[in-house]
Amino acid sequence: MTGDAIRIEGLSKTYAGGKQALKGIDLTIPQGAIFGLLGPNGAGKSTLINILAGLVVKSAGKVTIAGWDQDRNPRQSRGAIGVMPQELNLDPFFTPRGALEVQAGLYGVPKRERRSDEILEMIGLTDKADAYARTLSGGMRRRLLLGKALVHHPHILVLDEPTAGVDIELRQMLWRNVRRLNEERGMTIILTTHYLEEAEEMCDEIAIISQGTVVARDSTRNLLGQLDAKTLVIEPVSMPEMLPQAPGITAERRPGGLIALSYRASQISAGQVLALVQDAGIGIRDVRTEQADLEDVFLEITRARGAA
Ligand code: ADP
Ligand code: MG
Repeated sequence: MTGDAIRIEGLSKTYAGGKQALKGIDLTIPQGAIFGLLGPNGAGKSTLINILAGLVVKSAGKVTIAGWDQDRNPRQSRGAIGVMPQELNLDPFFTPRGALEVQAGLYGVPKRERRSDEILEMIGLTDKADAYARTLSGGMRRRLLLGKALVHHPHILVLDEPTAGVDIELRQMLWRNVRRLNEERGMTIILTTHYLEEAEEMCDEIAIISQGTVVARDSTRNLLGQLDAKTLVIEPVSMPEMLPQAPGITAERRPGGLIALSYRASQISAGQVLALVQDAGIGIRDVRTEQADLEDVFLEITRARGAA
C-alpha cells in the first residue's frame, strides 16, 4: 500500500444534544508516518478518532482508510485500523488472553492467524495471561488495550491519549513498542496528546485542532520552529537596582524577587544569557526555564496568521 493512510474530507460531527464537535475537517495522513493530533481538551480529537474507528457515526464528510471508503467498504476500512481508546473499557471478567481472543473473533481473524502469545509477550503480560482483568494494575490494563488494538494486524494504529496519567516506565514501554511497529512493520501511527513534548519527541508531522477545526498542519520541525521564544527565570541572591540589558533580551521583574529574561533561542543561547547576568554582577541563587506549551503554539499561530 502506498500513498495516504487516511484521507478525511469535509468531516463534521454534531452530537445528538446539538454539540458540534467537528466543523468540516480536511486532513490527510501519509502512509508510514507517526502523526500527532494535538489540541486542548474538548477540541474534538476523540470524536475524530472514534469516527475513524467506526465507533461514532459522522454527520457529514468522507473518510478513506487505507484506500477504502468508510461508507462503501465499512468492513475493509475498519479492518485496516486498530484503535487504543482513551477510556479503560475492559471487561473485568476476561483474562488478557481471553480478551485478545474475543477481540480477534470480533474482527473475524481465523484461529490459525491469531498471535495472542506474541502480543502478550510484546505488551509484557505473558505472566498475567490468565489473570482476571480486574486484578491487573492500571498500567497493565492500558497495555492490554494496546494489545487488543493489534489482534487483526492493522496497517494503521491509533492511540488516543495513550500516556495521559501513566508513569514514566509505562510511557517509555509504549513508545518503544510504537516505534518498533512503525519501523519494523511500516505501521502508520496516529496519536492524540495534549503534551507538546511527547509530540515533539515522537511525531514526524502534527495537526493541531481547536474547537473542531484544524488550525495548523505541518512537520513537527516547522511547527515547533515557530516557538523560538524562550524565557529564563532567575532568583538573584539579591535584587539588583539595574536589570541586565543586551540586544535581543528583555528583562523584567517578577513577583517573589525573581527576574525573567526573554530571548530568541535562534539568536542567543541560554548560556550567553546566564553569562550576561553574571557579568552584570548578579549572583544567581536559582534558575529555571519556562517551556513553551500548547497555549504558546496557539498564540504564535494566531499571531502569525493575524500578521499574514
Ligand atoms: P477531545 O478528545 O479533544 O478532548 P472530544 O472529541 O472528546 O474532545 O469532545 C469534543 C466535544 O464534543 C466536547 O465539547 C465534548 O463535550 C463533546 N462530546 C464528546 N462526546 C460527546 C457525546 N457522546 N455526546 C455529546 N457531546 C460529546
Ligand atoms: Mg479525547
